[in-house]
Amino acid sequence: SLLSSEPRPQPAKPHALLIPYPAQGHVNPFLKLAKALHARGFHVTFVNTEYNHGRLLRARGAGAFDAGAEGLRFETIPDGLPPSGLDATQDIWALCEATRRTGPAAVRALVERLDRTDGVPPVSCVVADGAMGYAVHVAKEMGLPAYIFFTHSACGFVAYLNFDQLVKRGYVPFKDESCFTNGYLDTPVDWMGGMLPGARLRDLPTFIRTTDPDDTMLTIIIKQCELDSPVADGILLNTFDELERRALDATRARLPNNFTVGPLGPDVYPPSYLPSLTSSLWRDDERCAAWLDGFDDGAAGSVLYVNFGSITVVTSEQMDEFAWGLAASGCPFLWVVRPDMVRDGGGWALPEGFAEEVGARGLTVGWCDQEAVLEHPATGGFLSHCGWNSTLESLRAGVPLLCWPFFSEQVTNARYACDEWGVGLEMPREVGRDQVEAVVRELMAADGRGAAARRRAAEWKEKAKAAVAPGGSSRDNLERFVQEIASRAA
Ligand code: UDP
Repeated sequence: SLLSSEPRPQPAKPHALLIPYPAQGHVNPFLKLAKALHARGFHVTFVNTEYNHGRLLRARGAGAFDAGAEGLRFETIPDGLPPSGLDATQDIWALCEATRRTGPAAVRALVERLDRTDGVPPVSCVVADGAMGYAVHVAKEMGLPAYIFFTHSACGFVAYLNFDQLVKRGYVPFKDESCFTNGYLDTPVDWMGGMLPGARLRDLPTFIRTTDPDDTMLTIIIKQCELDSPVADGILLNTFDELERRALDATRARLPNNFTVGPLGPDVYPPSYLPSLTSSLWRDDERCAAWLDGFDDGAAGSVLYVNFGSITVVTSEQMDEFAWGLAASGCPFLWVVRPDMVRDGGGWALPEGFAEEVGARGLTVGWCDQEAVLEHPATGGFLSHCGWNSTLESLRAGVPLLCWPFFSEQVTNARYACDEWGVGLEMPREVGRDQVEAVVRELMAADGRGAAARRRAAEWKEKAKAAVAPGGSSRDNLERFVQEIASRAA
């Protein structure tokens, strides 16, 4: 009654449990989703592996995450791999298998523990990475709504959705090793709904390139798409409708409760939101911004940014070719060479004479705040492996791409960047210094294909920002997702 001094029971806050796959390209968009939900009144629990949490603490400084934010907390689960003290990218195949083995019990125990914790509202929904589909099954068994957040492109996702068709139609597994070299990869696959016209086997995620019918990644992905995705209550994708309409139409025909919420990031939460909560697994080199300032002449960006993401490994020979190609291009460059990037174990160093040759025109660092670099006005091109986050961050910043895909659906992203979105120039896989030099000059030129890519990138920047601005398609989808999960918590 009105006279009673008893406080009215408040409806519990919705509590989202977010479970990214434990790699950089997944943890980053998941933290952005965490901030977006937190900014909309959710209690959020972010689940890292113990290994990655240790790395985050080393990159950020001990204690960085202890306080978290009121209502955004970090928890850890084991990854199932043997302990390692190295700050290096883990074997993603081993990690996939190990997390599937040990993850279910760990997630179940975590939900039970959170539900017993004073001051923490009961877990009301689980958002699991597409590569952590096991967590969807755990959530459903526990009676919780469960969503998949697939952090890759929709064009990559559509290819995964069609893996069963590739197998049924006899394209995969490959007959024998000769298929890698005899032109088989040029086989058209344009029957595949949602793929761009002229798509070939080589444009599909590289995981299909196997001769083993029991191939781990193939099995995991097929299982994921055939079983996990439909079991979930819905699926989130970090892309926007205008960018990937064809792929999204095909995805929605299979998985109708689909939320395209990208590009997730600072557009969907207040400015400088929870700035101490960042997700780089390596420590950013803080010299980059000041160095870039030195090349900001108010005109179009003149610096080429070179970065192959968190997983790509290359040979010493390839590094040498890139180094001398960059040197010969005459273009200022910021080159990120991850400490664990060269295949033959840390033995690579910049070639002799390189530093003298490039002088102040080149800066080489181990890791940087990539989004800050891409947003910097001095940055005018991005030589990238076309990981989805890198591709999207580049589009959002209006920076054209030189595409040198490494594996997975990076080849698909690169094909779209070049042929569909018009923002990229392609680099051959086996690339020598002369070609590096030529293609860098072409991308950075004030005319020709480079200038055309730059114009298209500027257009996509506007479209990307409009998608996440109030009234944009991604913003509407995000608010719809928030309402859907909040209503299920009540
Ligand atoms: N990244 C960064 N600094 C670096 C390299 C990468 O902050 O020096 C970030 C980048 O902004 C992106 C992520 O790491 O968000 C890499 O994800 P992506 O999907 O591009 O590639 P992956 O690492 O999964 O191959």
